[in-house]
Amino acid sequence: MSHFGESTFSYIMRKSGRKPISCQCEKCQSQCKTPCLGTPEDILKLVKAGYGDRLTPTEWWPGVIMGVCKEPVYMIQAIRENNGYCTFFHDGKCELHSLGLKPTEGKLSHHTTRVDNFVPKKSLSWLVAKEWLDEKSTEISEICEMLQK
Ligand code: SF4
Repeated sequence: MSHFGESTFSYIMRKSGRKPISCQCEKCQSQCKTPCLGTPEDILKLVKAGYGDRLTPTEWWPGVIMGVCKEPVYMIQAIRENNGYCTFFHDGKCELHSLGLKPTEGKLSHHTTRVDNFVPKKSLSWLVAKEWLDEKSTEISEICEMLQK
C-alpha cells in the first residue's frame, strides 16, 4: 500500500502512536499465544527466508467485531501450533527477534495495550490488517506465487 514515500512500518508506528519495544514479561509472552500480525512486507521476508511452511492462510475477524470492516480480512500469517503458541515461540522467546524478522504487530506490541485506550481505527492490528486489503500489492502477489511453488 502506498504511504506517499513513508515506509509501511513507519506509517503504522506513527498512526498507532507505538514505538518498537522488547519486553519478556509474562503478559507479553502470553500475547504469543495468538501469532502477531505481519504486513505483506513482513510475511514476504519470512517466505524469502525459508519459513513458508510455518505460515498459513487465515481470516482475520476482529475487524468485523470492532466495526472497522464488514468482512474478514484474508491474509497469510504464522501458524498457531498444537501447544497453543505461535510457531515461532520457544522457551519464552521469539525465534524471529534476533533475525530482525519479527512481524510488525509483535515489534510494536506491549503489555500496556489496554482496552480502555483502544481506538479501533488506530489499533495496531487494524493498521497491519488493512495492508492486506491492497489489491495492487506486489508483495501479496509475490507471496502467493512463492507459496504455490
Ligand atoms: S512471531 Fe514472535 S512475537 Fe510474534 S507471536 Fe510469534 S513468537 Fe510472538
